[in-house]
Amino acid sequence: MTSDSPAKNPAKTFHVKSFGCQMNVYDGERMAEMLGMQGYLPAADGADADLVVLNTCHIREKAAEKVYSDIGRLKREDGSTPTIAVAGCVAQAEGAEIARRAPSVDVVVGPQAYHRLPDLIARAERGEKAIDLDMPLESKFGALPKRADGQRPTAFLTVQEGCDKFCTYCVVPYTRGAEISRPFADLIAEARALIAGGVREITLLGQNVNAWDGEDDKGRAIGLDGLIRELAREDGLERIRYTTSHPNDMTDGLIAAHGEVDKLMPFLHLPVQAGSDRILAAMNRSHSVDSYLRVIERVRAARPDIAISGDFIVGFPGESETDFEATLDIVRATNYAMAYSFKYSRRPGTPAATMDEQIDEAVMNDRLQRLQALLNQQQQAFNEATVGRATRLLLERKGKHDGQLIGKSPWLQSVHVTAPGLAIGDMTDVRITSAGPNSLGAEPLMEAVA
Ligand code: SAM
Ligand code: SF4
Repeated sequence: MTSDSPAKNPAKTFHVKSFGCQMNVYDGERMAEMLGMQGYLPAADGADADLVVLNTCHIREKAAEKVYSDIGRLKREDGSTPTIAVAGCVAQAEGAEIARRAPSVDVVVGPQAYHRLPDLIARAERGEKAIDLDMPLESKFGALPKRADGQRPTAFLTVQEGCDKFCTYCVVPYTRGAEISRPFADLIAEARALIAGGVREITLLGQNVNAWDGEDDKGRAIGLDGLIRELAREDGLERIRYTTSHPNDMTDGLIAAHGEVDKLMPFLHLPVQAGSDRILAAMNRSHSVDSYLRVIERVRAARPDIAISGDFIVGFPGESETDFEATLDIVRATNYAMAYSFKYSRRPGTPAATMDEQIDEAVMNDRLQRLQALLNQQQQAFNEATVGRATRLLLERKGKHDGQLIGKSPWLQSVHVTAPGLAIGDMTDVRITSAGPNSLGAEPLMEAVA
């Protein structure tokens, strides 16, 4: 621009705040890319952005309630608010109720319709309340812009969405809709765009990611293991991960891939939820304690050093002390490297919400505490067992101290290392020197790790 050219209107700014699961993080990134294409500039936070997108999670009560307090906090000193869009699963579940309860909300858009966000914002700017809760047959993925050049060495790639399993406690089948697998060619194209932008690790995402199926470029029917094997051939891509899996969809091929595909990292997140067959049946999980433990055994036979992670719910309706102790037993039998555990949250519209014998909050608190104490012990022991080990890190971000970088081990542990000359995005060989509950320390290794 020459000095005498007219000053342009400054571009509008936006901020996307994502709550909940990694699939929401992926959706949030795609919305940000789309808004960038529309000329919006990213703002550091919502405080003075022109447009704020709250990309919400409905999996537990607190997550939904938090949205309303976040909306309230967007009000500025002069009483004004930015354009507010509520996206994600709370938007899908609560719909127009959000705009009634929080009149400052301008746009409500469900997780299957966010490719229409620019249109909805334009309607809101004309003074309409723009609400789109459609679950259209046309794929939103096809309508989204191409992936922007990655600014980080790791990326999520949603390969599968929705769920047909209808666990009795869960809102996902209602808010995300039926299970769909994205086409193979689209996924390879998106992965290549990410790799070209500098991404070295891709995590394949889905509510039941291991239910993904499709046809490869020769028309052969393949499952997630086939997709992983194809991605592993891409030069420049160093690491592949996937999450979240259902125990019943751990196929022979996928288990074998853990022993055969070097780029597939030795980490498996396999939720079990509870350790009592009676509770698993009431949850409609359609697997048993025994079938879960057999999957774990076979995965460990294929890849002995694999780190196992899980999800647990305590206090499901009707859970007795004996049922809960069976959950502690399955934790002892599996020996987790890490895990997520939650108190059961009553979700309106799900079958479990109206079951008899809802469990007292105090009992749930006590069980959660006991379960977490055991899981924390196992996580600490897993981390300590890696001390002295030589391994490879993918460096992802800066640490607190000068020259310090934080990378991930193959087992998804955060590892701090200080080594001059290294940069974010590098793969580097280290020896683990210390272990805390949530992160490890390491020193650089000169010789390469096999
Ligand atoms: N599809 C995955 C599976 O089958 O394990 C899980 C997806 S869900 C989004 C993530 C986790 O949230 C679940 O594994 C479960 O532990 C937890 N969760 C889901 N509904 C819940 C509820 N009503 N109360 C508490 N935790 C819940
Ligand atoms: Fe929810 Fe169960 Fe589907 Fe997982 S498998 S998303 S817990 S209904």
